[in-house]
Formats: sequence, C-alpha cells, structure tokens
Amino acid sequence: AFEGLAQRLQGTLQKITGKGKISEADVKEMMREVRFALIEADVNLKVVKTFVKTVSERAIGQDVMKSLTPGQQVVKIVKDELTNLMGGEQNPIQFSRKSPTVIMMVGLQGAGKTTSSGKLATVLRKRHNKNPLLVAADVYRPAAIQQLETLGKQLTVPVFSLGTDISPVEIVRQALEKAEKEHHDVVLIDTAGRLHIDEVLMQELKDIRELATPEEVFLVVDAMTGQDAVNVAQNFDDAVGITGVILTKLDGDTRGGAALSIRTVTEKPIKFVGMGEKMDALEPFHPERMASRILGMGDVMSLIEKAQSNVDEDKAKELEQKFRTQSFTLDDFLDQLQQVKKMGPLDELLKMMPGANKIKGLENAKVDEGQMGRVEAVIYSMTKAERNTPEIINAGRRKRIAKGSGTSIQEVNRLLKQFEDMKKMVKQMSGMQQKGKKKMKMP
Ligand code: GDP
Ligand code: MG
Repeated sequence: AFEGLAQRLQGTLQKITGKGKISEADVKEMMREVRFALIEADVNLKVVKTFVKTVSERAIGQDVMKSLTPGQQVVKIVKDELTNLMGGEQNPIQFSRKSPTVIMMVGLQGAGKTTSSGKLATVLRKRHNKNPLLVAADVYRPAAIQQLETLGKQLTVPVFSLGTDISPVEIVRQALEKAEKEHHDVVLIDTAGRLHIDEVLMQELKDIRELATPEEVFLVVDAMTGQDAVNVAQNFDDAVGITGVILTKLDGDTRGGAALSIRTVTEKPIKFVGMGEKMDALEPFHPERMASRILGMGDVMSLIEKAQSNVDEDKAKELEQKFRTQSFTLDDFLDQLQQVKKMGPLDELLKMMPGANKIKGLENAKVDEGQMGRVEAVIYSMTKAERNTPEIINAGRRKRIAKGSGTSIQEVNRLLKQFEDMKKMVKQMSGMQQKGKKKMKMP
C-alpha cells in the first residue's frame, strides 16, 4: 500500500531536507507537490486543503525559517501533520466496566467483517486475555454463518448461531444470555452487510445496537475503495453511530486515500488495519508509524530530536546576532564547531539520514573527525586578540600557531581563508536581508 504516495512525498521532501536555508517560495513549491501527491493518492479534497494550509503556516513560521536546520524542521512538520491527520495517538479497544463488553462489526458486504471478527477474536484472546464469544448475526446468507463457524473452529473460539430463520436482534439477545451464563467477557457480533447502504439494513443495525448497547461499533471498510470508504464511513456514522474503523486490505495496492481521510472526515479513529487474509493479520493502527512509513523516514526522527536536544537555542540566537552585526569571531567559529561535535560521531549521524541505507558504501564512510580536531587545535593556539581580530595574524604569528597546534602553516592558512569566506558570505546575505528579503536565513 501507499507506494505511489510514498515515492512522491519522499521525492519532494528530499529536495528540501538538506537545505541550509529555505524561502517561502521553497515551501510553496514543496506544498504544491505535496498537494498533487495527496490528490493522486485519492485523499479527500477538504482534507488535502486543510493539510496543506496547516503545514504551510507552520513551515513559513519564524521559528522554522530561523532555525539551524529549516529543511529538517519542515519534514518534521509534514510528518507531525500526517500523524495528526490519521488521529495522532494509537486508539485502543474500549472495554466496558461491566462484563461482557459488546463489540459490533458493521459494514458493507465484502468489506471484511467476518474475517476481521475472527482476527479480532484472536487479538482479544492473545493480547487482552479475553474469552470472546462470536455471534453470527448475518442471517441473509447461509454461507456467512458457515464462514464464521469455520473460523471459530479454526481458532477454537465458540460461535453462537441460530440459523437464518430468526431475526438478528433475537439472535443477539440470546447470545448475550449465553455469554452471561458461560462467562464470556467479550461478545463479538458479526452483522450482515449489503452491497450498498440501505434503510432496512441501517434500521436492523440500529435495533441491534439499541438492544446490545455495544461499547464499540467498528465499521469495517475496504481500503481499496478509497474515497468510497470515506463516504461509507460517514453514512454509517450518521445512521448507526460508529466508535472506530477497521481498515482492511491495506496489504493490497491501495493508494492510501481512505487511511488518510477517514479520521478527519468522520472524526472516528482507525483502530485496526487488516494486512492480509490470515487470522493473525490484524494490527493496531499507529498513526505515527504509518506516517513514518509513508515518508520512508528511517530513523530520521531520532536524528532530528538529537539535533534539537543538542543545539543550544540561546547560543544559536547569540550566534545569529553576531553574524548580523559582523562581530563573529574565531571563538564563535570554534563554538559552532563544538555544537556540531556534541551531536556525536558524524558517521553515525550520517547513517540515520533518510535513504542512507540506499547509498552504497556508506557503511564504510568515515567522516574526518581528525580534521575537526586540528581546526580546534589551531584556534586554541591563538591568542585572544588573534581570535577576535584575525587580520593581525601575520606570517610570524601563523608559524607560531602552526607549531603550537602541531599542524602546518598550510592548515592555519586554510582555516583563516575558510573563516574569511564565511564572513564574506554572511555579509552578502545580510546585505540582501536589509534590502527586505527576510526569507534569507543565516547559516
Ligand atoms: P464481509 O462480507 O464483510 O464479512 O467480508 P469477508 O470477511 O467475508 O471478507 C471478504 C473478502 O476479503 C474475503 O475473501 C477475505 O479473505 C478478504 N479480506 C478481508 N480482510 C482482508 C485483508 O485485510 N487483506 C486481504 N488481502 N484480504 C482481506
Ligand atoms: Mg460476512
């Protein structure tokens, strides 16, 4: 699932991740592509609009544009908002205080109600230590009852059925009695579906709901149906009232629209996803992990969190101020270097980058930390005056510094040149900034 969307979003975000500075135009361009990607993935148009608006506003915000890693911040925002779109936190099954907890499965024919009932019984038993009773309340097709009975046998979960001649409401009433007698703490009702939403079905479901007062009413929808799944969810919620969604067939090549739209449109959480036909293929839905998966993020979140926890915000602001007033010295340069070093071994960080696993030979990559150490040594060998006013560092001083730091005159020269270049660049940029181009960001 999600291949197309994942590919497009990853391609788009890759362009912005590494950028040391981003402009409003960069964000706009990116969001145009994100918008296309979402529409192509069959995401509800209203959802797309809101998403693009929220992300844009956050991305163009001052704290992002002025941060040390704006590209990564933007990616983090996209991921956060994707997560929010899908409901934020994982939403667990609710159990009633009084046993048994009744769970009702509703949905269109072929969506996966019966299969998901079996899967859910497995989850209830294995993960929640429950003793469920399955109830066959689809009285319109004999095959449906048989299907549930077969699953029950396979799982050794008892199935309550009374054939096809008795009303579903009566079946449920008797099932509840049996559950009480036999100490089943969960009653799982597999109801009938229709090819399309119709009044008769809705009334029947309402009647069952009224009688059984379920703690959960799970709407089972087929992810492959995209936007239709969202409409179905809305209709079922209006007519019967649902508490959550089970999105099936996510193992297929769905474009993802349903998964990304249902929560926002219906305000009902996706609680589980079906990942195959087998009885163990039901997984709790984790919005954050799904967002990560769609964005192919690897461990980039840890990376960004690491950067955020290591970069001293006040220090960063102070540096920026110095850049602006042209009072940036070699001491500040050293400071910045040490901030980077605090984050840990550079080659380890490199491996956490998204897509790093795809770069051949990276496992052997070694960042030259020795060189960083030498830069430090050179600066340490300078006097305070030299660090503040590098212009006074003449040939004689260079020789002394090289000797003191155990490096060479060439290395001292290179560092001084780098520092000068950096100052020049900063000067150019602040010049542009004064001309009103606020979007430029300091390195
Ligand atoms: P119901 O009419 O809503 O009860 O639907 P069923 O439970 O009978 O399922 C209809 C078809 O979808 C069956 O062939 C199931 O095996 C299949 N199915 C259900 N859930 C999944 C899933 O998560 N992945 C895949 N690949 N197939 C599923
Ligand atoms: Mg069925």
